[in-house]
Amino acid sequence: MKPPPFDYRRPTSLSETLDLLSQHGDDAKILAGGQSLLPMMSLRVARPEMLIDVGRVSELDTITEVDGAIAIGALVRHRAVETSDLVRRTVPVLHQAMPHVGHRAIRTRGTLCGSIAHADPAAEAPAVCLATGATMVAASTSGEREIAAADFFDGFLTTALRPDELLREVRFPTATANHGCAVLELSRRHGDYAIAGLACTLAVTDGSITSAALAFLGLGSTPVRVGDAEAVLVGNPPGDEVFAEAAAVTSSSVSPGSDMHATAAYRRHVAATLARQGLARAAASIGASS
Ligand code: FAD
Repeated sequence: MKPPPFDYRRPTSLSETLDLLSQHGDDAKILAGGQSLLPMMSLRVARPEMLIDVGRVSELDTITEVDGAIAIGALVRHRAVETSDLVRRTVPVLHQAMPHVGHRAIRTRGTLCGSIAHADPAAEAPAVCLATGATMVAASTSGEREIAAADFFDGFLTTALRPDELLREVRFPTATANHGCAVLELSRRHGDYAIAGLACTLAVTDGSITSAALAFLGLGSTPVRVGDAEAVLVGNPPGDEVFAEAAAVTSSSVSPGSDMHATAAYRRHVAATLARQGLARAAASIGASS
């Protein structure tokens, strides 16, 4: 199928992009990598009257380290994140998530910010944002505002972004030396969206867990953090017993739905298994050389 007719603009600067969004925001959509938007238009799920293609706005194609965070701009492709040595060293959980995003051809076009703005609950990047406590920087002609990841994902394909706002960059806090992480998921074939997945981080000081994050994808209309399971972990030494306890709490805390891919009961079981395995892997990775 072909998409319905649309106007097309290709700005070359951020200010031009924001002006276009200010004039046409309700009727327009940002075109980044097009890997989600164009299929949706072809299926007539989305019918924007105008596409604002940011592919020539080179000032958005940057990965920088600023004040203890890695800032990834709106034009940075998944593949650039995957191959960035800076990201691998400083935000390892994001680095680990990238190979799970579709296939290499999709990662070569699709952007990290596009995935986050698209807010598919089965996508990896939104879960990583939750796990790391990332900050979204939204820009419009009125200025910029920062939105915490916990406040960003409102529902299925819905975020806190206003129609006149561009997700200009996402800032991920850099990991500390006492930190470990893991990204695990279950999918029928490599490159498929996952039936369920987990981005998890763990910090251990003097033999005790000082912070933990368990952020799941594929379990609801948004990515979900399981605070009750995280609370079980903090203050305890890492080990099989406490990981099993956190997995049991995960199983009883999450409320996934059933669909053609899996029942709710199966997803709950997978979530518990991913929690136990992910925590063990994250703990084992602490102190691994970068
Ligand atoms: P686009 O398709 O260009 O845009 C998506 C939406 O976000 C649009 O509404 C657009 O207006 C909006 N948008 C984009 N950028 C911005 C911005 N900076 N500010 C505001 N709004 C913005 N993804 C996964 O995570 N995991 C997978 O396993 C996976 N498998 C895939 C398999 C296939 C076959 C395909 C085609 C895609 C798959 N994807 C998967 C999706 C892929 O990751 C997309 O690249 C991503 O979801 C969207 O990024 P994009 O740059 O292509 O955005």
